[in-house]
Amino acid sequence: MVATRYAIIPDGTRGRRGVPVHLIDRLVGNADEWARDFTAGELAVQPSLRLAVVACQDSRLDPQGLLGLGPGEAHYMRNAGGTVTDDMLRSLVISQRFLGTREIVLIHHTDCGMLRFTDDQLLDDLHAETGMRPTWAVETFDDLDADLRQSMRRITTSPFIPHTDRVRGFVYEVETGRLREVTATGRNAHPGAGG
Ligand SMILES: [Zn+2]
Repeated sequence: MVATRYAIIPDGTRGRRGVPVHLIDRLVGNADEWARDFTAGELAVQPSLRLAVVACQDSRLDPQGLLGLGPGEAHYMRNAGGTVTDDMLRSLVISQRFLGTREIVLIHHTDCGMLRFTDDQLLDDLHAETGMRPTWAVETFDDLDADLRQSMRRITTSPFIPHTDRVRGFVYEVETGRLREVTATGRNAHPGAGG
Protein backbone atom coordinates (compact mmCIF):
# COMPACT_ATOMS: atom_id res chain seq x y z
CA MET A 1 0.00 0.00 0.00
CA VAL A 2 1.26 3.40 -0.95
CA ALA A 3 0.20 6.00 1.57
CA THR A 4 -1.23 9.27 0.35
CA ARG A 5 1.22 12.06 0.69
CA TYR A 6 -0.67 13.88 3.39
CA ALA A 7 -3.02 12.62 6.03
CA ILE A 8 -3.21 15.74 8.07
CA ILE A 9 -6.89 15.96 8.85
CA PRO A 10 -8.20 12.51 9.82
CA ASP A 11 -11.48 11.15 8.51
CA GLY A 12 -14.39 11.92 10.81
CA THR A 13 -12.86 15.17 12.01
CA ARG A 14 -15.44 17.79 12.90
CA GLY A 15 -14.78 21.33 11.88
CA ARG A 16 -16.25 24.59 13.07
CA ARG A 17 -19.71 24.26 14.65
CA GLY A 18 -19.26 20.49 14.77
CA VAL A 19 -19.94 19.99 11.07
CA PRO A 20 -18.20 16.86 9.74
CA VAL A 21 -15.22 17.63 7.51
CA HIS A 22 -15.86 16.04 4.14
CA LEU A 23 -13.31 14.67 1.71
CA ILE A 24 -12.83 17.87 -0.27
CA ASP A 25 -12.43 19.86 2.92
CA ARG A 26 -9.67 17.49 3.95
CA LEU A 27 -8.04 17.88 0.54
CA VAL A 28 -8.15 21.65 0.87
CA GLY A 29 -6.41 21.21 4.22
CA ASN A 30 -3.72 19.21 2.42
CA ALA A 31 -3.40 22.05 -0.10
CA ASP A 32 -2.76 24.49 2.76
CA GLU A 33 0.06 22.23 3.91
CA TRP A 34 1.36 22.03 0.32
CA ALA A 35 1.56 25.82 0.08
CA ARG A 36 3.44 25.99 3.37
CA ASP A 37 6.20 23.70 1.96
CA PHE A 38 6.09 25.13 -1.57
CA THR A 39 9.43 25.90 -3.23
CA ALA A 40 8.66 25.36 -6.95
CA GLY A 41 7.50 28.86 -7.82
CA GLU A 42 10.33 29.38 -10.32
CA LEU A 43 9.41 26.51 -12.63
CA ALA A 44 8.90 27.46 -16.29
CA VAL A 45 5.59 26.83 -18.05
CA GLN A 46 7.45 24.78 -20.69
CA PRO A 47 8.04 21.20 -19.47
CA SER A 48 11.81 20.92 -18.98
CA LEU A 49 12.06 17.41 -20.45
CA ARG A 50 9.97 18.46 -23.49
CA LEU A 51 7.78 15.42 -22.85
CA ALA A 52 4.02 14.80 -23.03
CA VAL A 53 2.46 11.73 -21.38
CA VAL A 54 -0.93 10.49 -22.59
CA ALA A 55 -2.42 8.05 -20.10
CA CYS A 56 -5.61 6.48 -18.79
CA GLN A 57 -7.26 8.21 -15.85
CA ASP A 58 -7.08 4.99 -13.79
CA SER A 59 -6.35 5.67 -10.11
CA ARG A 60 -3.76 2.88 -9.94
CA LEU A 61 -1.65 4.40 -12.69
CA ASP A 62 0.70 7.09 -11.38
CA PRO A 63 2.65 8.26 -14.45
CA GLN A 64 4.91 10.59 -12.46
CA GLY A 65 5.90 7.93 -9.96
CA LEU A 66 6.19 5.25 -12.62
CA LEU A 67 8.43 7.26 -14.94
CA GLY A 68 10.33 9.07 -12.20
CA LEU A 69 9.14 12.50 -13.21
CA GLY A 70 8.77 15.57 -11.06
CA PRO A 71 6.92 18.88 -11.26
CA GLY A 72 7.77 21.06 -14.25
CA GLU A 73 9.15 18.19 -16.33
CA ALA A 74 6.25 16.92 -18.49
CA HIS A 75 2.66 17.43 -19.57
CA TYR A 76 0.05 14.83 -18.62
CA MET A 77 -3.05 14.29 -20.72
CA ARG A 78 -5.46 11.77 -19.24
CA ASN A 79 -8.87 10.39 -20.11
CA ALA A 80 -10.80 7.13 -19.86
CA GLY A 81 -8.57 4.62 -21.61
CA GLY A 82 -5.75 7.02 -22.45
CA THR A 83 -7.20 7.00 -25.94
CA VAL A 84 -6.13 9.61 -28.46
CA THR A 85 -9.37 11.48 -29.08
CA ASP A 86 -9.78 14.83 -30.83
CA ASP A 87 -9.46 16.55 -27.48
CA MET A 88 -6.20 14.69 -26.75
CA LEU A 89 -4.92 15.88 -30.13
CA ARG A 90 -5.97 19.43 -29.22
CA SER A 91 -3.92 19.25 -26.03
CA LEU A 92 -0.93 17.72 -27.84
CA VAL A 93 -1.02 20.40 -30.54
CA ILE A 94 -0.90 23.11 -27.86
CA SER A 95 1.76 21.21 -25.91
CA GLN A 96 4.06 20.97 -28.92
CA ARG A 97 3.34 24.23 -30.72
CA PHE A 98 3.32 26.60 -27.77
CA LEU A 99 5.03 24.81 -24.92
CA GLY A 100 7.92 23.10 -26.64
CA THR A 101 7.29 19.38 -26.05
CA ARG A 102 8.85 16.98 -28.57
CA GLU A 103 8.39 13.41 -27.33
CA ILE A 104 5.18 11.56 -26.47
CA VAL A 105 4.71 8.54 -24.20
CA LEU A 106 1.33 6.77 -24.29
CA ILE A 107 0.29 4.51 -21.42
CA HIS A 108 -2.62 2.07 -21.42
CA HIS A 109 -2.94 -0.50 -18.63
CA THR A 110 -4.23 -3.94 -17.78
CA ASP A 111 -7.67 -4.32 -16.11
CA CYS A 112 -8.80 -1.05 -17.72
CA GLY A 113 -12.42 -0.06 -17.18
CA MET A 114 -12.71 0.46 -20.94
CA LEU A 115 -12.31 -3.30 -21.45
CA ARG A 116 -15.44 -4.01 -19.39
CA PHE A 117 -18.26 -2.66 -21.54
CA THR A 118 -19.00 -1.79 -25.16
CA ASP A 119 -19.73 1.52 -26.83
CA ASP A 120 -23.27 0.36 -27.67
CA GLN A 121 -23.99 -0.68 -24.08
CA LEU A 122 -23.24 2.78 -22.77
CA LEU A 123 -24.88 4.61 -25.69
CA ASP A 124 -28.06 2.51 -25.40
CA ASP A 125 -28.22 3.07 -21.64
CA LEU A 126 -27.74 6.81 -22.02
CA HIS A 127 -30.38 6.96 -24.73
CA ALA A 128 -32.84 4.90 -22.71
CA GLU A 129 -32.35 7.08 -19.65
CA THR A 130 -32.21 10.51 -21.22
CA GLY A 131 -33.67 10.22 -24.74
CA MET A 132 -30.42 11.60 -26.12
CA ARG A 133 -27.21 10.20 -27.55
CA PRO A 134 -23.96 12.01 -26.85
CA THR A 135 -22.04 13.60 -29.71
CA TRP A 136 -18.78 12.02 -28.52
CA ALA A 137 -17.50 8.54 -29.27
CA VAL A 138 -17.18 6.22 -26.28
CA GLU A 139 -13.95 4.58 -27.54
CA THR A 140 -14.07 1.34 -25.57
CA PHE A 141 -11.70 -1.40 -26.74
CA ASP A 142 -11.23 -5.13 -26.31
CA ASP A 143 -7.55 -5.32 -27.28
CA LEU A 144 -5.16 -3.13 -25.32
CA ASP A 145 -2.25 -3.43 -27.73
CA ALA A 146 -4.43 -2.75 -30.78
CA ASP A 147 -5.95 0.34 -29.20
CA LEU A 148 -2.51 1.58 -28.20
CA ARG A 149 -1.29 1.13 -31.77
CA GLN A 150 -4.34 2.98 -33.06
CA SER A 151 -3.69 5.81 -30.58
CA MET A 152 -0.07 6.05 -31.74
CA ARG A 153 -1.23 6.14 -35.38
CA ARG A 154 -3.71 8.91 -34.65
CA ILE A 155 -0.79 11.01 -33.44
CA THR A 156 1.71 10.10 -36.14
CA THR A 157 -0.82 10.66 -38.94
CA SER A 158 -2.17 13.95 -37.57
CA PRO A 159 -1.30 16.85 -39.85
CA PHE A 160 -1.44 19.22 -36.87
CA ILE A 161 1.24 17.67 -34.66
CA PRO A 162 4.68 18.85 -35.74
CA HIS A 163 6.86 16.28 -33.95
CA THR A 164 5.90 12.64 -34.43
CA ASP A 165 9.30 10.93 -34.66
CA ARG A 166 9.46 10.02 -30.97
CA VAL A 167 6.07 8.56 -30.04
CA ARG A 168 6.15 5.36 -27.97
CA GLY A 169 3.38 3.29 -26.42
CA PHE A 170 3.35 1.14 -23.29
CA VAL A 171 1.01 -1.07 -21.29
CA TYR A 172 1.31 -0.73 -17.52
CA GLU A 173 0.53 -3.93 -15.65
CA VAL A 174 -1.44 -2.93 -12.57
CA GLU A 175 -0.85 -6.41 -11.13
CA THR A 176 2.96 -6.27 -11.22
CA GLY A 177 3.84 -2.58 -11.57
CA ARG A 178 5.74 -3.38 -14.79
CA LEU A 179 5.69 -1.40 -18.01
CA ARG A 180 5.66 -3.25 -21.37
CA GLU A 181 6.34 -1.51 -24.66
CA VAL A 182 4.02 -1.98 -27.64
CA THR A 183 5.57 -1.01 -30.95
CA ALA A 184 3.60 0.79 -33.62
CA THR A 185 4.07 -2.15 -35.99
CA GLY A 186 3.04 -4.80 -33.46
CA ARG A 187 6.47 -6.45 -33.49
CA ASN A 188 8.05 -7.25 -30.13
CA ALA A 189 9.88 -4.39 -28.55
CA HIS A 190 13.36 -5.12 -27.22
CA PRO A 191 14.33 -3.28 -24.04
CA GLY A 192 17.03 -0.77 -24.79
CA ALA A 193 16.40 -0.86 -28.53
CA GLY A 194 16.43 2.51 -30.24
CA GLY A 195 13.58 3.88 -32.21
ZN1 LIG B 1 -7.95 2.56 -17.76
